Amino acid sequence: MPIIQRMSEDVFSRIAAGEVVERPASILKELIENSLDAGALRIDVEAEEAGKKILRVSDDGGGMDAEDCRLCLERHATSKIHALEDLESLSTFGFRGEALAAVAAVSRVSVTSALKGAKEGWTVEAEAGRIVKSSPAPAIRGTAISVRDLFFNTPARLKFLKSEEFERGRLLSVIEEAALANPETAFFFKSEGKNRLSLEALCNKESAGTERIVSVLGESLAQNLLVAERETADLRLKIVLSAPGALLNNRRFQYWFVNRRPVEARILQQALYRAYTPLRLQGRHPLVVGYLELDPAAFDVNVHPAKREIRFRNEREIFDLVLRSVSDALAKAHSPGPLLRPDLTEYRVENNFSSEPAFVADAPSAKVEPEARTALLPFSSSATSSLHKTDGHPHWFTPPYRYLGQIERSYLIFEAAGGLFVLDQHAASECVLFERYGESLLSGRILSERLILPISVSLPASAASRVLDQKDRLLELGFEVEALGKGAVQVLSTPPLLQKEKDVQEAVQKLAEDFGEARLALNDIRRKTLSTIACKAAVKAHDPLGEKEALALLDDLSHAQEPQSCPHGRPTMIALSRGELARRFGRPGAPPLKGE
Ligand code: ADP
Ligand code: MG
Repeated sequence: MPIIQRMSEDVFSRIAAGEVVERPASILKELIENSLDAGALRIDVEAEEAGKKILRVSDDGGGMDAEDCRLCLERHATSKIHALEDLESLSTFGFRGEALAAVAAVSRVSVTSALKGAKEGWTVEAEAGRIVKSSPAPAIRGTAISVRDLFFNTPARLKFLKSEEFERGRLLSVIEEAALANPETAFFFKSEGKNRLSLEALCNKESAGTERIVSVLGESLAQNLLVAERETADLRLKIVLSAPGALLNNRRFQYWFVNRRPVEARILQQALYRAYTPLRLQGRHPLVVGYLELDPAAFDVNVHPAKREIRFRNEREIFDLVLRSVSDALAKAHSPGPLLRPDLTEYRVENNFSSEPAFVADAPSAKVEPEARTALLPFSSSATSSLHKTDGHPHWFTPPYRYLGQIERSYLIFEAAGGLFVLDQHAASECVLFERYGESLLSGRILSERLILPISVSLPASAASRVLDQKDRLLELGFEVEALGKGAVQVLSTPPLLQKEKDVQEAVQKLAEDFGEARLALNDIRRKTLSTIACKAAVKAHDPLGEKEALALLDDLSHAQEPQSCPHGRPTMIALSRGELARRFGRPGAPPLKGE
């Protein structure tokens, strides 16, 4: 009796389904791609329970006849390639003929379709991969595919799905991505009976791309954008990106499309970051929407079943081209914003790249801000640090403190009996405010002031929905937010320290990014919100500070529970003792170097 046996078709197809179908959003991606392949100019998406119960995609594309309706659910059934050579010249998204079969294997699918101009249509229903009904149907325009009861026959996979808010956010992101790449197609999204997104078709070829970027990303993000364009014999390139003075503090809004396919390609990111290297500060990232069009034979999408990663045949050439066009666009952008000027360096300028060879250097470091203070007061029990630490940092030395002045428009210098110290005014102020807010939260004293005029913040719909999902938590923290149309929120009340329109907008944008990570624990949400409030309300680097304010800040900081670092983990102060000074100047009797 052999121990190796052939898997049954049923087991095999469920395993194969796992590669394509991870969650409602991965199904939606396949369905939208099919609609686009069929030439759709309008795509309607409807979801119930964020797609776990029902996900329906209807399009006005070319449609299918009865025979194709039945075939399309079969494995390896595709209209897009017939022979191996076709892979070389592929211009469609799909080609494996796998997606619908995989979806059908783990759900209840119905396909209704009609060819353009046909008098009659056809409908097919399948359950767990088996066709249970196939019959004539009224002719509809295009194709409607609905997927019900996802994973009903693989309950273990059902458990891996996350909350409805999370899954809905992922659905929205898929639509946003498809919409960015296909401005001439209209997209509508309805979930739980509510309209969540409407993007009209844009027909003017010249302006469509940019208009779509504005309607998807929202006006606040789409400000201060540059365009880098280049065309060679075999490649067209258009990259929309942040002006150097308008970088974001996250890399969430970075999209690349190759022949309209959303892709991840290290080479493109590396070229982008390389171009920004002289201008970019640590923790700052460009927004980018990049479109490349090239001969399908010049790259390979067949690397990964989800077809997300691609490889270019000539990586070096692509790298150079992107680098050059982005660098040129940045250089042309006159009057760089304040962040660019070297004398205004807020944080250390990051330089991740060794000079050569350019494109084998590591991808831009994934580290965003060092989130060192994760176990933070008041949300942790590790309230260990005493006020005036003498072991290790910080040394406050002995008062009275004398303020010597500000340098680099960012650091405050003080002298005391034991030595001198330097405060980073922004980090110190952030640290103080963070703790103060934390304490008032604990004692239920968080204040909130109603704004005379609400402040509106336009965001991508997926980001707006992430913020609105945390509405109640934000209210606890003094923020009252409300939906404003589909892709925006408006802020009605804020913590008293935060009322400048720009600060409020930036805070909300930051929160939208923070909340985008996998599901956050309540404490993380609080911590992130508090640190965002603190950061936006804090004295900025480059704010001029008088002696009184400087001394008050020092006093506040010296009374903080964890004065040594700001909520992002950057140090707030550096101390230089008299002993250290003496040692550095080689004075006799000076204390020896540690470890000597
Ligand atoms: P692939 O897209 O890789 O060919 P799929 O399983 O996604 O494989 O789809 C199988 C086939 O079903 C497609 O090749 C196409 O002919 C047909 N099809 C699927 N969705 C649609 C649609 N919305 N409109 C027209 N034809 C479709
Ligand atoms: Mg497909």
